[in-house]
Amino acid sequence: MGPLADRVKNLGDESAFKVGDDIRKCEAKGLSVVRLNIGEPDFDSAPNINRVAIQNIEDGNSHYIDPQGILSFRGSIARVMAETRNIQLPPDHIVVTSGGKPVIGYSMIAYVNPGDEVIYPSPGFPIYESWITFLGAVPVPVYLKEEKDFRFDATDLEPLVTSKTKLLIINSPSNPTGCVLTREDLSGIASLLAQKADPNFRILSDEVYDEIVFDGLRHESMLSVPGMDRHTILLNSLSKSFAMTGWRLGYAVLPTVEEAMLFRQLNINTYSCTPPFIQMAGKAALDNKENKTIVSAMRREFQTRRDVMIEALNRIDGICCVKPAGAFYAYPNITGVCEKLGILSAYEEKARNLKDIASPSTLFQLFALYVHGVATLDRSSFGQIGCENSHYLRLSMASDMETLKEGIGRLADASADVDGFQDFMNRWLKA
Ligand code: PLP
Repeated sequence: MGPLADRVKNLGDESAFKVGDDIRKCEAKGLSVVRLNIGEPDFDSAPNINRVAIQNIEDGNSHYIDPQGILSFRGSIARVMAETRNIQLPPDHIVVTSGGKPVIGYSMIAYVNPGDEVIYPSPGFPIYESWITFLGAVPVPVYLKEEKDFRFDATDLEPLVTSKTKLLIINSPSNPTGCVLTREDLSGIASLLAQKADPNFRILSDEVYDEIVFDGLRHESMLSVPGMDRHTILLNSLSKSFAMTGWRLGYAVLPTVEEAMLFRQLNINTYSCTPPFIQMAGKAALDNKENKTIVSAMRREFQTRRDVMIEALNRIDGICCVKPAGAFYAYPNITGVCEKLGILSAYEEKARNLKDIASPSTLFQLFALYVHGVATLDRSSFGQIGCENSHYLRLSMASDMETLKEGIGRLADASADVDGFQDFMNRWLKA
């Protein structure tokens, strides 16, 4: 009998953190690495936000606080919900969390029993699948298709929804595909669930990239679809919109006060409360009008980078990439490269049973990093179930233009390096 509980075997991971070890190994060998794996804006939080946190610490606002979150901050969140989602909710439906991530775990704990079915996007944020398997629920991936620009609608969901569907997770704008669901997509999904699922179904709507949509598109929220406020847990955080990833500040908007109280209780059972000076800085982020200009400038910069990056990717033989409508990632299809470099056969014949090699795109990701010095994330980083025959990478746009161009240049070199790949495989298998 080992020291660990059985259930930890089913806990997943987030490769975005793990790839850091590989990068360090490469750099220790003297290879320079261009990081296109990064999942956070390359901007710092705004000075007007920073100052509020510092002032609050100096004023002694550094003690335990209401586990649900400071009322005035929740008031600001309620105002933002009214302005952006046209929904009037009192602050007692809102719970402040340390980053957006806890809301994923809390939703699973609060709503999902072992054996319940949870539908979630694949590729999608890996923590969804991790919690589903960890809790012994039934993972039901809705596979996002390139031919639909990675959007999904009621037609795609119809065969997956059953009376056992307890929770549907949606994420728009999406990590990793950058797809943005339309109002029609959301309305169709809502009607389907109302007809087919258990009347107590819940939707976890992960909207952490809500501020990063391009080409003048509007972010549409499930919370704005009539009647869906009774079913929707909105997950949001200030991490991406306000470049505050390390601050760990997020929130949930819940259908009822009772559910909000349960999320508050989950806060009490984990970290008690989000630091008050962080919440006051979050309030400044939402209230200070200067931040609208700062966020718009960041959005424009991401859009410019996207245009350059997608064009450059589509010029590489063997790669094609849909233009993302939001978030800050490109999600190119690398099937052509996998064929050209012999990666598909190398995977089948040599690598399929190796630890940590989940799919052919994993092999290419490792090759691109260890030989050509460009860090990306493979398809399996965004859902392990059913990833083997889908050949994609995620590239982040969270670097300056020069770095992005250099990274794509290296990816182009890797994509053409047939001999290099064979050599890499031979060395890798011996190691
Ligand atoms: N949801 C998605 C889709 C994400 O990409 C991320 C972070 O990468 C999160 C949630 C978690 O956000 P936070 O850093 O606020 O916990």
